[in-house]
Amino acid sequence: FASSGFLKGFDTNLRLQASSSPALEFSNGFLPKRQGVINLNFSNCYPRSSSPTMLKLFSSTASRAHHLTPAIRAGSRSVESPLFKALSQLTGLNRRSTSLGQRVFFCSEPTDGASDAEAAAEAEAKAAESDSEADSKSSSAIVPTNPRPEDCLTVLALPVPHRPLFPGFYMPIYVKDPKVLAALQESRRRQAPYAGAFLLKDDPSTDSSSSTDVEKSISELKGKNLLNRLHEVGTLAQISSIQGDQVILVGHRRLRITEMVSEEPLTVKVDHIKDKPFDMDDDVIKATSFEVISTLRDVLKTSSLWRDHVQTYTQHIGDFTYPRLADFGAAICGANRHQAQAVLEELDIHKRLRLTLELMKKEMEISKIQESIAKAIEEKISGEQRRYLLNEQLKAIKKELGVETDDKSALSAKFKERIEPNKEKIPAHILQVIEEELTKLQLLEASSSEFNVTRNYLDWLTILPWGNYSDENFDVVRAQHILDEDHYGLSDVKERILEFIAVGRLRGTSQGKIICLSGPPGVGKTSIGRSIARALNRKFFRFSVGGLADVAEIKGHRRTYVGAMPGKMVQCLKSVGTANPLVLIDEIDKLGRGHAGDPASALLELLDPEQNANFLDHYLDVTIDLSKVLFVCTANVIDMIPNPLLDRMEVITIAGYITDEKVHIARDYLEKTARGDCGIKPEQVEVSDAALLSLIENYCREAGVRNLQKQIEKIYRKIALKLVREGAVPEEPAVANDTEEAEIVTKLDLESPETQVVEENPEESKEETQIRVEKVMIDESNLVNYVGKPVFHAEKIYEPTPVGVVMGLAWTSMGGSTLYIETTVVEEGEGKGGLNMTGQLGDVMKESAQIAHTVARKIMLAKEPENQFFANSKLHLHVPAGATPKDGPSAGCTMITSLLSLATKKPVKKDLAMTGEVTLTGRILPIGGVKEKAIAARRSQVKTIIFPEANRRDFDELAENVKEGLDVHFVDDYEKIFELAFQQD
Ligand code: ADP
Repeated sequence: FASSGFLKGFDTNLRLQASSSPALEFSNGFLPKRQGVINLNFSNCYPRSSSPTMLKLFSSTASRAHHLTPAIRAGSRSVESPLFKALSQLTGLNRRSTSLGQRVFFCSEPTDGASDAEAAAEAEAKAAESDSEADSKSSSAIVPTNPRPEDCLTVLALPVPHRPLFPGFYMPIYVKDPKVLAALQESRRRQAPYAGAFLLKDDPSTDSSSSTDVEKSISELKGKNLLNRLHEVGTLAQISSIQGDQVILVGHRRLRITEMVSEEPLTVKVDHIKDKPFDMDDDVIKATSFEVISTLRDVLKTSSLWRDHVQTYTQHIGDFTYPRLADFGAAICGANRHQAQAVLEELDIHKRLRLTLELMKKEMEISKIQESIAKAIEEKISGEQRRYLLNEQLKAIKKELGVETDDKSALSAKFKERIEPNKEKIPAHILQVIEEELTKLQLLEASSSEFNVTRNYLDWLTILPWGNYSDENFDVVRAQHILDEDHYGLSDVKERILEFIAVGRLRGTSQGKIICLSGPPGVGKTSIGRSIARALNRKFFRFSVGGLADVAEIKGHRRTYVGAMPGKMVQCLKSVGTANPLVLIDEIDKLGRGHAGDPASALLELLDPEQNANFLDHYLDVTIDLSKVLFVCTANVIDMIPNPLLDRMEVITIAGYITDEKVHIARDYLEKTARGDCGIKPEQVEVSDAALLSLIENYCREAGVRNLQKQIEKIYRKIALKLVREGAVPEEPAVANDTEEAEIVTKLDLESPETQVVEENPEESKEETQIRVEKVMIDESNLVNYVGKPVFHAEKIYEPTPVGVVMGLAWTSMGGSTLYIETTVVEEGEGKGGLNMTGQLGDVMKESAQIAHTVARKIMLAKEPENQFFANSKLHLHVPAGATPKDGPSAGCTMITSLLSLATKKPVKKDLAMTGEVTLTGRILPIGGVKEKAIAARRSQVKTIIFPEANRRDFDELAENVKEGLDVHFVDDYEKIFELAFQQD
């Protein structure tokens, strides 16, 4: 066989090829014959002198092929074709099951599902049949067929839509035409199971390329029309099986249509066309085929699909020749049908190989692109997964570190934790709102603005001290101690606070009240507020409403606004953490007027005990109970406080301090704190009484003590510098020590009178420091070195007062003061009587002067009817310091006295001061600021004061030290003043 095949050359080769092709027989175990073919083919194709390169390239690992299928195992025993080995080896790269038939266009065997068994059985029968015939037909190599394929000169023409059928490959087609189907079945029965498979040309009329359309158009084509649409060159195909309308075709050899025999079904006469003869040793052909193989190898490496094809092919066909290699390459490429048809039609083997090579290179490019696409997508997916993983880790880390702020559940847990301890104390309606908001928070997107609003709202709601009260002190004695400890005097205020505590003690609870402290600056209004809080054991919160114009400051903004905040009161409750603090509202008389809304009315709602049990803050939107809050307001002038507010307050006036009080305050309080602040020990310095008095009289004459405090601090700072310059360095920080000591002393003072132990300490340290530094002495003479030259000169500019000058008493927001009223004659003459006024007088004061002029003239007329002084004198009235605006009615009696002094040319009594409003008939009306005026009079060394009779009650209430040494007269008619002022000593 081998020799004959070899000798007969190409022709034999072709025949053998053809006969070996029907794979069904081959794959069903008739191997002895097959072996022969393979060997023969091998020797045909690659004579023994076959290229060593090739052999090397495909160095066999035949054992691999053994594992594949029984068929291949059996076959591989004697398979030696280098091409076969090469491809088997390559297919061995992939051990996946050889699932075939998914790609429709080739195979030597139908394998899909149910048809398997049937096909096998059929093949077996046929093989047995052919086996028996084999002996008799020596010309047929393996599968003697009757009739032989080459004898088929008239065949049914079957259109194949997508790709041409290549020899050695199988292809299922669908035959819709029942006539054609019947004819096919008939031809199978006649032992001539062949038909011609011809590729359909493109339909020039339509450009539809979808497979269903093509299939539909095939079934519609008949006879001549169909013939015109078929390519001339096709393949002789064995009808392997027919399943319903599915016909499995196995390609055998190339055909060319010569003429039509019948139209229905289309039957044509064909020529069997042969490849052009070629030289097997031709180097170009060899090289091309090697290139095809190596390309195939490359593509196989990447494409698993191809591996399956090769495996199947080698399994069932088994061997490659140059022409078959070309066909194989073209058949398995995804090349388009025209290019595949070109390969089919090409009879020159070299050209065919070249065409195939082209197709395969293209395929390789495609598989490269496929690979890169797969890689890119894989990268993308893994990148995303990585990102996700990292994000999850980040979250976990943040949570672990507690920096995860907007984690909803963490937030909710935080809020719940906050309200948990005093859940019973929180009013039901508030709890309900909190619950609702917590549920809402869970539903909101964490990045939405509403989420933030809700979070802030919940923050406020949960942080407020609902029902959380500080234990109040109802111990009057203790409270008294604390109040005295912080402030000297101020008995009115202290008394009122003690009353408040007493009521609280008897009732068991204390009620919120509004106390208004009014008085000049620096009299201790704010500091007593703090001290009251301490005495009551309440938390202290202070806010100033001076210049406040925005109602939202008190009532809060609505939550809908960006940056909305609750009002001051809610902020206060948050910061103090108890629901019963003492709130000091400073400067209530300087409340501004808002352009939208009136802050005074808002304050009213806040302060009014009737309303503030249900105070509604716009931000909070739930009512809060402020009835337990004790409000203390401060003001300089009560007149400026809006009336509805004033109505609800209990006003306590702090008039200011007289010199005596100031000395006490300075000695017992201001000096102590200043000393402590400067780190000076008591024994290091001594300020003499005379120096202190001079300081108060000549430097700090105002009603309050703030300026005095400043001056004392100034003195102590300078002393500190002096001490340090002299080398005084305490061995330990004196500040803390000192204040602590002071505290211990006072505490022990309260508990027991025995302060022996503690008092020893200052003694000791005194001695120690005395060794080191000289004591700094401050007296009247060196006071100037510390505080500079005196700012005030004596208010008394006249000593004694000349004719026409009288001292009056005035009251300002800074306290009381004395002022002179001067009158003089400008010119005299018949009918020249008149009055000029200067000194920045207000309308009331000007009227007062007019009244005084009239009343004085009347009195003069009554006393000396012939005296024409007022009728003929042009007078000038002046109130010095011209730069200070003055107004008020209380200078009336002073003006009259001044005018009368001028008229009678008599000076008034020495050291006399007076105040009082006068009517046209000479009645004296009451005035305000009795205490301030009394203090001012004392300061100016006034001995005798004249007050309106109606003010006697006010004066009687004054402390003894204020009244001390004053000769006070109360009058209700001017007549009495005249007597007092001009009486001769
Ligand atoms: P106001 O609020 O009335 O303007 P402050 O309360 O600020 O004044 O008081 C100013 C300073 O004067 C505070 O340091 C305070 O301690 C001190 N002071 C005022 N009155 C007294 C007093 N009666 N006893 C002790 N110190 C006082």
